[in-house]
Amino acid sequence: MRTVVGASHARTDAGRKRRGNEDAFVCRPPLFAIADGMGGAQAGEVASALAAEALTDVPVDGGGERRIVELIREANRRVHERASTDAATTGMGTTITVALVEEDGHVAFGHVGDSRAYRLRADGFEQLTDDHSLVAELVRRGELSPAEAEVHPQRSVITRALGTDPSIDVDTFSKDALPGDLFLLCSDGLSDMLDGGTIESILRAHRSDLAEASRALVQAANRAGGEDNITAVLFEIAEDTAAPEPDEKTREAVPSRPEDEDTLHPEDHVVPPPPAPSAVDTMVAPVEAMPPPAPAEPSAHDEEELEEATFARKALALAVIVALCALIVVLVIWGLAR
Ligand code: MN
Repeated sequence: MRTVVGASHARTDAGRKRRGNEDAFVCRPPLFAIADGMGGAQAGEVASALAAEALTDVPVDGGGERRIVELIREANRRVHERASTDAATTGMGTTITVALVEEDGHVAFGHVGDSRAYRLRADGFEQLTDDHSLVAELVRRGELSPAEAEVHPQRSVITRALGTDPSIDVDTFSKDALPGDLFLLCSDGLSDMLDGGTIESILRAHRSDLAEASRALVQAANRAGGEDNITAVLFEIAEDTAAPEPDEKTREAVPSRPEDEDTLHPEDHVVPPPPAPSAVDTMVAPVEAMPPPAPAEPSAHDEEELEEATFARKALALAVIVALCALIVVLVIWGLAR
């Protein structure tokens, strides 16, 4: 079974406290990403936009974690180069969380910063990424409780970013993906405002409509304060049910039915079957296919004429014979009589 992306949807919102939106996203199946920019003035916006652009400049169709690292390194190179040459953007950087859906039933991830990836499936909701943030490191070291981290004044300080250094350390990992799984990539403007349980219940309530789900997430984050830009990228895993394309031969072998013609559309790249042979075609085609005309076989009509002609010829011959016989008889009688 091939793993394919089903529905997908992305939404971004400036939130209620920020004037601009420094988040950027990629929603181009099978590739998805979230980037949350940082830096003075509009530099954060430049950093996240440059990173997203680097991911979409080349078509990406598989390649797993290795391909994702290449993409993130190229994004890092571009952002760092710009920050080094453009004084207005000095020190800018961005988070990046990338997901690539592979046909073999896995999703490959690359991650730098405190944006997050989650997976929702029938039996649970799991955060897949570790935050590269000061508070998350303190929690991992046991120096801070998760509850303390949530309200820590420095909770938005990140320990790793894309674009701030010429080289970059990328977390990569792969997760198995089953049909029906729903993945969420989001910026901290969502995950700081809503806890995991709230995000999960919103996703389950709107599971059948991802546009509605992303709208509900943004709305809930804004109601909880909307202190930062809010971005959610959603994509679900589906089973590939598409039948293989029939080849040219098979297509031609399909018998043409008149009702098929009604469903044909110029955009359907289907070769229409030849029209059913009409009365004219049956008469014309054999002639074209036939060798030079052979002596015409007598038709029913000709046969009648021929019969008449034969009869006339026979009658004439009989009359000639009778006449000759009569002449001979006359000559014999005339000879004897002399
Ligand atoms: Mn943010």
